[in-house]
Amino acid sequence: MTEKRRTAVLVLDGLRRDFVTPELMPRLSALRERATWCAQHGSVFPSVTRVVSSSVATGCRPARHGLAGNTISLVDEGRLALFDAGKPEFIAEKQRLTGQALAMPTLADRLASAGGAVIFNNVSPGAAYLHDPLGHGHVYHRAGSFGPGREPITGEQALAIAGDLDGDAELVKRFTAEAIEGAKPALALAWLGHPDTTQHAVPLGSPQHHEALRRADAHAGAVIDAVDAARERGEEILLLVGSDHGHQTVSGVVDIDAELIVAGLKDGPASTDVVVAPNGTAALIYVDPKHCDRVARLGAFLAGCSWVGRLIAPDEFGAFGIPADEGLAFALAMAADDEADNAYGVPGLSLAAKPASGKPDRLGCGQHGGLGRYEQSPVLMLDGPGFAAGGAITEPTSAIDLAPTLLAFLGHDAPGLDGRPLQSRP
Ligand SMILES: [Zn+2]
Repeated sequence: MTEKRRTAVLVLDGLRRDFVTPELMPRLSALRERATWCAQHGSVFPSVTRVVSSSVATGCRPARHGLAGNTISLVDEGRLALFDAGKPEFIAEKQRLTGQALAMPTLADRLASAGGAVIFNNVSPGAAYLHDPLGHGHVYHRAGSFGPGREPITGEQALAIAGDLDGDAELVKRFTAEAIEGAKPALALAWLGHPDTTQHAVPLGSPQHHEALRRADAHAGAVIDAVDAARERGEEILLLVGSDHGHQTVSGVVDIDAELIVAGLKDGPASTDVVVAPNGTAALIYVDPKHCDRVARLGAFLAGCSWVGRLIAPDEFGAFGIPADEGLAFALAMAADDEADNAYGVPGLSLAAKPASGKPDRLGCGQHGGLGRYEQSPVLMLDGPGFAAGGAITEPTSAIDLAPTLLAFLGHDAPGLDGRPLQSRP
């Protein structure tokens, strides 16, 4: 390992590639001029934050890291039950029911004795803790911060911020001072909540959305400046700036539970024979093995639904990187129209699955999870040794390529990951 090398990663949650323009995002546009731009960067499926976070952390698709969705079903006391992977207690619940949080080591695990990992995160607590479920590094989140051994970090050192844009600004201050300038870990990773959180609440292309993009760009600028200052002091730093997924505009909301009940394929709203895990513009459909006779009829029904864009049966789970979880009968991407515009002229409309447990429907605002062109068009820029200024990688890249790229830069061997180091890609 090359001791003096270290890495910095900044994720702007939910940023679509086509929003990186000189007018809206001057700092990111300037970074693009001196970095290598991934022209066909993609997310994983489903394109939701907790799943992508796990893929960034492990370099593997969900089939290998074992988290199928933001919302999933697990077998609890012999029945299918829904779990929200964003909750702070999710990791303990998944460990209790499946024996593990993630099935592959994270960057925090791999770097524990090689410079360590410091993560600052302003999305859901579950997404934050999935970067380091075993407690090998430092994870800072407003719901609770933890050091090695999952020792709580309290008082002044805890991350007392809000989930809004001001919270992101506060996070960037702490991140640059403590991770880029202070601790200097092998991996310093900041994951900001915006523009994603804004995009879920306002229409894409609206004035409020553009304001959030400008502020997110300024946050990126502060991180770029801190990395540049460290480089001027002689440090060798690889900087990755990007996002986990983009957004589509929600053109309609489908209550999949209600559709299945009307079709006679699910007994009732709270029944556990068939359980739907909504994931924004995607859904996972579980069937209790005691009702496996229902799978064929369910498949035929879903194949005929106009609101289903892509139905994925278990024989295709491998191709889509979906884990063969107990009871998981189908995954689906909701129907999308990538050519149609929203009211602000922003292309990419999708139907969304009605969220579980009374969460808002997001009609007319942004959403993600499926296979639509724009939710599958996140950002990745690679700035530093091994990457040509103003260059582009024109073949498809993915969230799974970040970990192998970072580990290669740090001189770590990590064979057998799903992703590949991007240093040598055309
Ligand atoms: Zn996200």
